[in-house]
Amino acid sequence: MIDVEAIVVGGGPAGSTCAWRLNRSGIHTIIIDKKRFPRLKVCAGWITPKTIKNLQMTREEYPHSFLTFNRLNFHFFGARFPVRTRQYSIRRYEFDDWLLKRADVDVQQHAVKHIRKADGCYIIDDTFRCKYIVGAGGTNCPVYRAFFRKTNPRNRKGLIAAIEEEFRYDYQDRDCQMWFFDRKFPGYSWYVPKGNGYLNVGIGGSFSTMKRRGETVRTHWNHFIKKLEDLSLVKGRLFDPRGHNYYLRQAVKTGRRDNALICGDAAGLATIDMGEGIGPAVESGIIAGEAIIKGTTCSFKSVTRYSFFNILFPFLRKAHYESIQDTSYCSWNKGV
Ligand SMILES: Cc1cc2nc3c(=O)[nH]c(=O)nc-3n(C[C@H](O)[C@H](O)[C@H](O)COP(=O)(O)OP(=O)(O)OC[C@H]3O[C@@H](n4cnc5c(N)ncnc54)[C@H](O)[C@@H]3O)c2cc1C
Repeated sequence: MIDVEAIVVGGGPAGSTCAWRLNRSGIHTIIIDKKRFPRLKVCAGWITPKTIKNLQMTREEYPHSFLTFNRLNFHFFGARFPVRTRQYSIRRYEFDDWLLKRADVDVQQHAVKHIRKADGCYIIDDTFRCKYIVGAGGTNCPVYRAFFRKTNPRNRKGLIAAIEEEFRYDYQDRDCQMWFFDRKFPGYSWYVPKGNGYLNVGIGGSFSTMKRRGETVRTHWNHFIKKLEDLSLVKGRLFDPRGHNYYLRQAVKTGRRDNALICGDAAGLATIDMGEGIGPAVESGIIAGEAIIKGTTCSFKSVTRYSFFNILFPFLRKAHYESIQDTSYCSWNKGV
């Protein structure tokens, strides 16, 4: 039996950030993840300045490709609305592995199946024992299933069905593009260039709305890839996309029950308007870690709910506005 003070189930951004915070406070923590890192993660990999700030990252220490966008292009009903802002793209394959290593804790590869409570401790698959357990295992997190399903039920109306593909491509348009409600799609599609010549294209929208209409995300994906071809954004590719479902933020009643906590997609915290989940995963990972350190409740009230506000009105935050005066297109793009 491996016996430690805290176990974080899931080594994505929520879990690694929580473990990083716990470890820095001297709490003996391990991460359990079913996958060996670096691992593929279905995600467009768009991140915000707020996320970088919360992670206390610097350009110098991040060793992988990192693109800076000084503008995002929003498309509504055929019209393009370029928005001056500052946002970034990373590759999850690299980013998650880097965050996990930075947490500097032991990582065990194991698919968690069964969790029980005995003598004030949590026992995982009769192999691991801990005082604190943090569920950061994404949509199907076993900690959520064991301890939070009843207190924080998920409404299927908030379920997002998404598919995407990330691949090497000699892209000519280096801008980030997003198309909303194309052909009545209840969501949006994206074209996100990455460093080192990678491109991510994908589509994500309301599962329940599509189901009600008898549509699938695949139907819309087929229209989307034709559009990419027609716009000469991606030409002649035989796509083989991967899908994943996750929840937009709903009423998260509690992030803590006794010494069990949840964060990130396990808690269902992606932003209501754009499904941005990395930033909320990082924010909630820090909050869960601090709740353990300080012995407090775990509230996600302060976690970002809407992405649009931060994108559209960066000038309301002086420091951010000053930071976008740097007009270099790919100012943080090592290895390209
Ligand atoms: C197509 C798509 C595009 C997206 N694009 C963006 C974007 O551009 N920007 C953005 O901010 N958000 C985006 N998101 C959302 C974002 O990917 C998630 O919100 C984010 O990954 C949540 O992080 P997490 O750490 O909570 O969970 P995850 O990153 O899912 O990590 C969970 C980890 O838990 C592990 N795990 C799961 N079950 C078990 C188990 N039983 N035992 C052990 N380990 C387990 C998994 O292997 C995984 O490593 C996108 C999502 C999708 C589907």
